[in-house]
Amino acid sequence: MAYDDNNIFAKILRGEIPCKKVYEDDYALAFHDINPQAPVHVLVIPKGAYVGMADFAANAPTALISGFMQAVGKVAAEVGVVEEGYRLIANDGPNSHQEVPHLHFHILGGKRVGPLLDGSFR
Ligand code: 5GP
Repeated sequence: MAYDDNNIFAKILRGEIPCKKVYEDDYALAFHDINPQAPVHVLVIPKGAYVGMADFAANAPTALISGFMQAVGKVAAEVGVVEEGYRLIANDGPNSHQEVPHLHFHILGGKRVGPLLDGSFR
């Protein structure tokens, strides 16, 4: 899928839409999800035009890939979920229910989040 410069996270990165920022560096921005699904629900996005992980892994500069992954770890530590545990989710593409077409990792914690999926596959 081609990257849409007008997706909501692109607008947040450009500062056109506000966000409740948790962390920012040269490679990533992290902010609270507008519709939290857990006591801690933070999104981490890379500073680059990537819809999903395959595109990011294949085409992003190595410094951005490593910087983004380091930022995800830093944010998890900063929001205080590492010791008790948390879920890291990246919805990617139509089957995943990805709503915003800019690569993002959800950090969900602050409670027991339950099984990964609803079990309906079997
Ligand atoms: P996805 O379904 O694409 O994995 O997740 C997109 C997430 O972005 C959802 O959890 C949704 O609540 C969040 N979201 C959508 N629009 C906004 C927004 O304008 N600001 C913030 N902070 N989060 C948003």
